[in-house]
Amino acid sequence: MTEVVSLSVPCRTVFGWSYTGIMSRSAQRIVMKFGGTSVGDLDRIRAVAARVKKQVEAGCEVAVVVSAMAGETNRLVGFCQSLSPLHDPAEYDAVVATGEQVTSGLLAIALQNLGVKARSWQGWQVPVETDDAHSKARIARIDGAKLGLCMTEGVVPVIAGFQGVGPDGRIATLGRGGSDTSAVAVAAAVKADRCDIYTDVDGIYTTDPRITSKARKIDRISYEEMLELASVGAKVLQTRSVELAMKEKVRVQVLSSFADDSPVDDSCLPGSLVVDEDEIVEQELVSGIAYSRDEAKISVRRIPDCPGIAAAIFGPLSDANINVDMIVQSTGEDGMTNMTFTTGKGDLERTIAIMEAARPTIQYGQLMTDSDVVKISVVGIGMRSHAGIASTMFKTLADRAINVQVISTSEIKVSVLIGAEYAELAIRALHTAYGLDAA
Ligand code: ADP
Ligand code: ASP
Ligand code: MG
Repeated sequence: MTEVVSLSVPCRTVFGWSYTGIMSRSAQRIVMKFGGTSVGDLDRIRAVAARVKKQVEAGCEVAVVVSAMAGETNRLVGFCQSLSPLHDPAEYDAVVATGEQVTSGLLAIALQNLGVKARSWQGWQVPVETDDAHSKARIARIDGAKLGLCMTEGVVPVIAGFQGVGPDGRIATLGRGGSDTSAVAVAAAVKADRCDIYTDVDGIYTTDPRITSKARKIDRISYEEMLELASVGAKVLQTRSVELAMKEKVRVQVLSSFADDSPVDDSCLPGSLVVDEDEIVEQELVSGIAYSRDEAKISVRRIPDCPGIAAAIFGPLSDANINVDMIVQSTGEDGMTNMTFTTGKGDLERTIAIMEAARPTIQYGQLMTDSDVVKISVVGIGMRSHAGIASTMFKTLADRAINVQVISTSEIKVSVLIGAEYAELAIRALHTAYGLDAA
């Protein structure tokens, strides 16, 4: 591929790129992202450097995005939680972003040791501009100019994932798993041919391969299905990374950093590819099953049933940037109503504080919470045209005496909230019931 870009290339509004001169580019341009276990210790970082060197030697222009070393972000989050469960999200960002800063510097050193020109980039240096939602910020714009120049000059940029800079000029992080989104955003900004997400499994599976050995590797999955799977808990890719890949048409491959094989070109990719629906020849009815343990159930009980209750409950939560997922309202004959909803476990303390502060307005009788729950979801584009997917799910769970607490659906997904102790049993049973088990 040869491409000539010049100063007259217009800047895009969301993910902008601009170059400082006219240059030609014939090499494949690849973004390689390495997750926590892939850079878990110095040996792993050396192995990653060797893998990057191989791609550079194969003639590719490479940008690398890294996560913190495995366990590091949890350790940093734990410090913030221990000092104060209701800590300032901007200070949390200042703390947790350090994990990626360390890895980017270490990998740049490891690459230089191998004779590969490299330098580290922090989010604010690129810059990766975000909105003001500290601890779960969204990327608003990336200027790919400096990174693009670095790559064409033969220097590998090693970018700290998960972080950017907010409108207040302070470090902002992108939510857990956010380095995937950094990688896709960088790939869009530097117009990469592909974004390779290296992790500890060799692709995207029909369910988490750590739950059942019968999980099957998927060669190609549509953006839409992967988006749905990620949004309901398949943490192999962060939801926003898939959203962005779909919008910016970035080809994303998920592959193992522990296997020997590295992709040479698009015709022999070892991992799973996330692509447009029309690039997939055979479409399964159900493509996968995901679960999320990061769920907390909140029941606001005995509320006088009148217009404005939902706004009074969910308005203050949205003002505090708390995402609410499943919602059920049930009203009794006595005119009192109950509102049950789920949030992420990390938002539970703040949700309780907000609900308690709103009690005089909402006038509820009782607030109950339960963090011992898991959400199981079945996803498949085939649901658009086939009935019976949900009933198979309910029957399979009923046959194992698993009680369904909350249900929610979308066009291509059915989710249920069940007791956490039933997670593995439910996933394995559903995997078999939908015919997903590997032969
Ligand atoms: P990284 O640190 O590389 O970002 P993650 O832990 O975030 O890695 O994501 C990889 C993990 O995602 C795997 O170890 C696997 O347990 C889990 N996972 C969940 N669902 C799936 C799935 N459908 N296919 C593959 N992996 C999955
Ligand atoms: N280090 C961050 C996390 O553990 C971001 C990432 O790994 O993608 O969530
Ligand atoms: Mg991850």
